[in-house]
Amino acid sequence: MANINENYLKLKAGYLFPEIAKRVKAYSEKNPSAKVIRLGIGDVTLPIVPSIVDAMVSASKEMGTSEGFHGYGPEQGYSFLLKSIAENDYAPLGIKIDENEIFVSDGSKCDCGNIQEIFSTDAKIAVADPVYPVYVDTNVMAGRTGEIGSDGRYSNLIYMPATRENGFQPEIPKEKADIVYLCYPNNPTGAVTTKEALKAWVEYAKKNNSIILYDSAYEAFISEPDVPRSIYEVEGAKEVAIEFRSFSKTAGFTGLRCAYIVIPKELKGRTRSGEEVSINSLWSRRHTTKFNGVSYVTQKGAEACFSPQGKKEIQTSIGYYMSNAAKIRDGLKKAGYEVFGGINAPYIWLKTSDNLSSWDFFDRLLNQAQVVGTPGSGFGPAGEGYFRLSAFGKKEDVEAAIARISAL
Ligand SMILES: *Cc1c(COP(=O)(O)O)cnc(C)c1O
Repeated sequence: MANINENYLKLKAGYLFPEIAKRVKAYSEKNPSAKVIRLGIGDVTLPIVPSIVDAMVSASKEMGTSEGFHGYGPEQGYSFLLKSIAENDYAPLGIKIDENEIFVSDGSKCDCGNIQEIFSTDAKIAVADPVYPVYVDTNVMAGRTGEIGSDGRYSNLIYMPATRENGFQPEIPKEKADIVYLCYPNNPTGAVTTKEALKAWVEYAKKNNSIILYDSAYEAFISEPDVPRSIYEVEGAKEVAIEFRSFSKTAGFTGLRCAYIVIPKELKGRTRSGEEVSINSLWSRRHTTKFNGVSYVTQKGAEACFSPQGKKEIQTSIGYYMSNAAKIRDGLKKAGYEVFGGINAPYIWLKTSDNLSSWDFFDRLLNQAQVVGTPGSGFGPAGEGYFRLSAFGKKEDVEAAIARISAL
């Protein structure tokens, strides 16, 4: 038998979603006529919009002709998509991103999970708490943390609590972190940041030679004009930050798979002996070695997101979800709940009533309202006492769920 990577044994068993499924199944078996409404999922539900479908149908037909056939494409993505990204996602913000600073991939989950490979195994990591679990688990796998404690925290990892006391803004650590993960608009809290706060992070990173990993998967849901859409809106951020974006939530690509990562040329790491190394080159080496590109058809679909018609259709879907978010937010507020998020993000984060634990509140909603959400404690110890509802459901389901919760 071969020896295994024992870091994997430190991982907390995938507990959250299996446990939710188990409790829902048990309830449904006992109450077969109950109509359970699921507002727990972080997956989109609306179909792919017509202009994207059309682009992918044409691309598929092209693939069936000898002139239009595409085999392996460039690993970093086709130039047509890289150009569209730079021109549509960055140029309007006054940010100049070169094609060779963008790498197209099959998802931000993979990008956020894989990026840590190019950093030293003793790099010190900082994450918000609560947090998207991928950031933590992939660093546990790589051996950058110790064991998990009874408080639910891994040793040798810097946790930055985000609670209602600090407006869900993780505080800049006193100590030096080599890598900082930030996610705005945030999953799970729905919080957004300000340009001022991002400036402070960029300053911290410059002072400490840190690199910021900025997950912007929900950028398309920003509705307020003064909310930053990219960390590169802050001057100097290109020297310290990598940005992640995905077509998953923006355009319903969770089942199609397409995302990208931006690594500016200015961003440098260093060797133990102090030589500067381009992070862009390191990632390029990794990406071209381990990844063979997103399919031509999918990239054509992604390109269509940037056509005028595509933008309009996507905006309609986002509007649908955000009107759900407003219904959840307003409905719960009226029912006396303390609610956060849901304005620039498709998630509503609420304080549980009667000081219930996240799981006790889960059971109350399931048993008394037949509504399923996600216990906040599943995203980290500081999520205890909170609960996440998602706006990705059907309008009728959202309305019914809010009516039921209000009647409790
Ligand atoms: C959904 C999500 C992503 C995107 O994942 P994909 O792999 O691109 O589907 C990235 N980060 C966060 C925080 C998310 O919630």
